[in-house]
Amino acid sequence: MMNIFASRAYLSDGWSNDVRLTLDGTEITAIASNATPQTGDTRVDTLLPALSNLHSHSFQRAMAGMTEFREKGRESFWTWRTLMYAFLDHLTPDHISAIAALAFMEMQKAGYAAVGEFHYIHNAAGGTKYDDPAELSSRIIKAAQDTGIGLTHLPVLYSYGDIGGKPLAGGQLRFGNSVDEFAALVDRCKTLVRDMPNDTAVGIAPHSLRATTPADLAQILGQTPDGPIHIHIAEQTAEVDAVQATLGARPVEWLLDHADVNDRWCLIHATHMSDAETTAMAHSGAVAGLCPVTEANLGDGIFNGKSYLNAGGAFGVGTDSNVNISLTEELRLFEYSQRLHHRARNVLAPEGGSTGTTLYTQAAKGGAQALARNNGEIAVGKLADLVAINSNDQRLCALPPSQLFDGLVFGANDSVVTDVWSAGRHNVQKGRHIQEDAILERYRHAIKDLTSRIRDV
Ligand code: ZN
Repeated sequence: MMNIFASRAYLSDGWSNDVRLTLDGTEITAIASNATPQTGDTRVDTLLPALSNLHSHSFQRAMAGMTEFREKGRESFWTWRTLMYAFLDHLTPDHISAIAALAFMEMQKAGYAAVGEFHYIHNAAGGTKYDDPAELSSRIIKAAQDTGIGLTHLPVLYSYGDIGGKPLAGGQLRFGNSVDEFAALVDRCKTLVRDMPNDTAVGIAPHSLRATTPADLAQILGQTPDGPIHIHIAEQTAEVDAVQATLGARPVEWLLDHADVNDRWCLIHATHMSDAETTAMAHSGAVAGLCPVTEANLGDGIFNGKSYLNAGGAFGVGTDSNVNISLTEELRLFEYSQRLHHRARNVLAPEGGSTGTTLYTQAAKGGAQALARNNGEIAVGKLADLVAINSNDQRLCALPPSQLFDGLVFGANDSVVTDVWSAGRHNVQKGRHIQEDAILERYRHAIKDLTSRIRDV
């Protein structure tokens, strides 16, 4: 049993003062407002529900800053992808776990309690199988354990090099699995997480319509009766054109017509949708997995946010390429992209509503749904996924509670985060992760080894 005392907290029914929470280890078992702090309570300033980061490829954290130069011809997503494949030639299991631990630590310091790791490297360079098909999944699971972040592990089915069942080539060989190999991998991951805290989950992630076929997709959906299903979709216009040419429909349109897309699904990006697709997806119950920082970095385009939210669509946010792990920046950029597009302000808030509160609370709810995680609000019976911020910070101190989310999203950054609990695990304390020095040292060592291998080629 442990207790947290907060000067104020955003509970499921709004702001309360002098809030005392009781945790039984992983869950919130009691909440008292207008309470008195007791000896032994962990005291914080302002307590919020912590978000779930619904989409990450942790290894890409180490590539940040390596693809920001202009090659001859047009710089595009596809040249970024070429560089990613070069990187993949040299990543070892030890690199993968050290980089994942760094990313998972940074996510928690940014205020995320959990991550959906969309994990697609399964093989050694050249496509050689490891003895254990879940060798690299086990490294991700271990990194979650070492950092205490809540994990929804999403092993990826990636069988083809492009739409139309093209064979894998080059760096893609590290991703490859047949449908049967994938089923064995998912089973093995489910066995591995039995040793993890019970907030750990396993879902599936058919990578994209490019990397699977309609028949394979139908087969893995048929053999997966429950749990989250994530897929990349309609990220780039080239992908939309290729799917249209090969499958005869736009990607989101095709998926909605050919799969039972419901509240188990998270459609990552869904950047390029017609108005009809936007409404249909919003009504499907699926979550839109938006990754505004990565989508901006890769030049993907702007999500149809205004119509999607007006149609009641659910969304959450993800750090995807992890080029800059910042929760406030994801939310801020989602709204700012809409403002620039529509030449208007406060586009994503309902009439009379606060934009910051809308973005934060809806992303909390959508992230929980996408990761099948019992979090997203501070309430009895929910996981103790909590973030404390310092409202006395100069960027927030002028604001009443009703404007704190707006201040957090638009006027501050993640450095106002003081403490983070993930299912009751108090991993960030006074702005530092409890394993920070060890994680940094391991990362520096791994990255030195990895970059020397890349440069020696
Ligand atoms: Zn992604």
